[in-house]
Amino acid sequence: SSLFFSTANNRPSFLRFFIRSRAMASHIVGYPRMGPKRELKFALESFWDGKNNAGELQKVAADLRSSIWKQMADAGIKHIPSNTFSYYDQVLDATAMLGAVPPRYGWNGGEIDFDVYFSMARGNASVPAMEMTKWFDTNYHYIVPELGPDVKFSYASHKAVDEFKEAKALGVETVPVLIGPVSYLLLSKPVKGLEKSFSLLSLIDKILPIYKEVVTELKASGATWIQFDEPTLVMDLDSHQLQAFTHAYSELESTLAGLHVLIETYFADVPANAYKTLTSLKGVDGYGFDLVRGPQTLDLIKGGFPSGKYLFAGVVDGRNIWANDFASSLNTLQTLESIVGKDRIVVSTSCSLLHTAVDLVNETKLDKEIKSWLAFAAQKVVEVNALAKALSGHEDEGFFSANAVAQASRKSSPRVTNEAVQKAAAALKGCDHRRATDVSSRLVAQQKKLNLPILPTTTIGSFPQTLELRRIRREYKAKKISEEDYVKAIKEEINKVVKLQEELDIDVLVHGEPERNDMVEYFGEQLSGFAFTVNGWVQSYGSRCVKPPIIYGDVSRPKPMTVFWSSTAQSYTKRPMKGMLTGPVTILNWSFVRNDQPRSETCYQIALAIKDEVEDLEKAGITVIQIDEAALREGLPLRKSEQAFYLNWAVHSFRITNTGIQDTTQIHTHMCYSNFNDIIHSIIDMDADVITIENSRSDEKLLSVFREGVKYGAGIGPGVYDIHSPRIPSSEEIADRINKMLAVLESNILWVNPDCGLKTRKYAEVKPALSNMVAAAKLLRSQL
Ligand code: GLN
Ligand code: ZN
Repeated sequence: SSLFFSTANNRPSFLRFFIRSRAMASHIVGYPRMGPKRELKFALESFWDGKNNAGELQKVAADLRSSIWKQMADAGIKHIPSNTFSYYDQVLDATAMLGAVPPRYGWNGGEIDFDVYFSMARGNASVPAMEMTKWFDTNYHYIVPELGPDVKFSYASHKAVDEFKEAKALGVETVPVLIGPVSYLLLSKPVKGLEKSFSLLSLIDKILPIYKEVVTELKASGATWIQFDEPTLVMDLDSHQLQAFTHAYSELESTLAGLHVLIETYFADVPANAYKTLTSLKGVDGYGFDLVRGPQTLDLIKGGFPSGKYLFAGVVDGRNIWANDFASSLNTLQTLESIVGKDRIVVSTSCSLLHTAVDLVNETKLDKEIKSWLAFAAQKVVEVNALAKALSGHEDEGFFSANAVAQASRKSSPRVTNEAVQKAAAALKGCDHRRATDVSSRLVAQQKKLNLPILPTTTIGSFPQTLELRRIRREYKAKKISEEDYVKAIKEEINKVVKLQEELDIDVLVHGEPERNDMVEYFGEQLSGFAFTVNGWVQSYGSRCVKPPIIYGDVSRPKPMTVFWSSTAQSYTKRPMKGMLTGPVTILNWSFVRNDQPRSETCYQIALAIKDEVEDLEKAGITVIQIDEAALREGLPLRKSEQAFYLNWAVHSFRITNTGIQDTTQIHTHMCYSNFNDIIHSIIDMDADVITIENSRSDEKLLSVFREGVKYGAGIGPGVYDIHSPRIPSSEEIADRINKMLAVLESNILWVNPDCGLKTRKYAEVKPALSNMVAAAKLLRSQL
């Protein structure tokens, strides 16, 4: 069934090569599943739509897996992972393996099939999906296991073993990868009702028997290595949690006997106490470390590494798209080799390559010089092997010198450096930027000018993006329609959106963002220092992928970006029209960021560009400006000790954008999550005049912050309905929500708005929902 295998004993040429040349000590933690052109996405979506059958989906998946294994074998990688493929999510795969299906999905035992699997992932007609949350500090989202005292675990998905055998049948010996048992539990949540009382780790002895079954079967199938991903080891764990690792691996020790066992960590330094626990685990003889995000781990290794054990040195960055700096990596590797010994070091990636783009080969439109600075997953595999070869004394001189040339060109290229920007950004460091007047006085000045009713209504920015709109943008980009026709069409759309909002009697209007494809890309395309890919997709969740821009150089704004559209929109109405910008921290966190200067520096540069835009909008007569910081929380470092520093420069960057304006100009910001109880003081410190926040999907977690007594003086609009659902909320329901908010927040600071932008909704949903929202606000006004 495979394209490159005819029969088992008629081995194709790449394998003959693979077997003849001794594979160097190289390892890949994991690989993207989507395929170089998002083949899996399209196959999944066709299957969900009923256009494809299960067999067709499985065929696409099998072809992707075999081509990935082939590619790694071809490159000479020694430790090739299997079971890093997933139809949806690797944590959900572990849930399936353990048979931990929540009862509401009606599973009756046996091997878990697509029906049950995708119901957990996406919900079905009668049951909503399981909760999804961010995978550490990445933009990948995993399905959160729901565990309680009554879960009956059973070995219900043989996927890990099946994939191992599948690779083996193709002639590729792989390292099967499992989420480690302790991380699995630590990434879970207790079932409803037991949130505060249930100890997830108490389940360890119930899941270990399943792990033993899997390991036994893998051994019987011929596995020689096994990899347990235990990334929670990089978090701030207490001694009880660390003890769980010691316990779990002692329990597994006898089952693991005869296998090489790698515990893989990633995304940050392993703290000193966790390092001690990790390196004393029974039955384990390899440790994987992220040496890109965790530079201090190097010192721990220098301080002591158990003799005879393997070090998997993650020097090739799995989270970014930059080509490796070979000279510098080789240096690190040689230092490590002198500590752990020649046969005990394995060159690896910093984490799974899941978090980077797939293959640079498909970037036909990228500028040549910029392209020479990049490496996507396929190229990183080659890099890992080149480093392993070099370490063993077989340096590919041509490849290394080309790498040195590219590194040098990146350092000296005039397209990277803009002296004026560097200077301006450097001057910001160590300073504090704040508006001259405090927020309560500003709100008074703004109200004089805006004259808004109490409980003012607004929306978050985007209005439905119809197929027609997408077509117009696409054709304009492809130069199929003239600029004149394009501007005319967008103006008409804005006018329509303005008229609709006036009819609905909304107080502060938006232009609807019809000219924007994506809230970061739109700005990146107009700023210098950004590059864009055609196929640089990264999985976000399920079949969803994002295509982050690449920030390669100093950022500046050659000319105004939004002023034309915002002032056009304002000219259609007497009501205040919100200018709509994406904030510097969000632009940073949703891009591939340069690694040749601190992130904070890049963020300050973007802040200065947005500051210019804010001031130009004000000059053009826009009195309300929203600066979205949807992704501010996403950049929060995993370790508590690093969070204050991040929040400090991130919040500072936001403030920089709006310190040069008058008191009467009202700054809004918007955030897409409500779990910010822990960062509420930073949010207050952003000093925006009004903040709108997602609220309704989280059982109003947000309001508890204020219930607990946090003082908040600025305007605030917790979302009154969920825009992720097609459901139309009634005005009673919305009024009820607002009343709950009024119980904890003063009526004079409360705004009424949806959770987020309306871009993914249909007008048939948006019109009645907003109409009910305005009706609810009016009803409550009359009662206040
Ligand atoms: N202004 C943007 C919109 O409405 C905000 C999107 C977001 O927060 N993710 O679409
Ligand atoms: Zn949002």
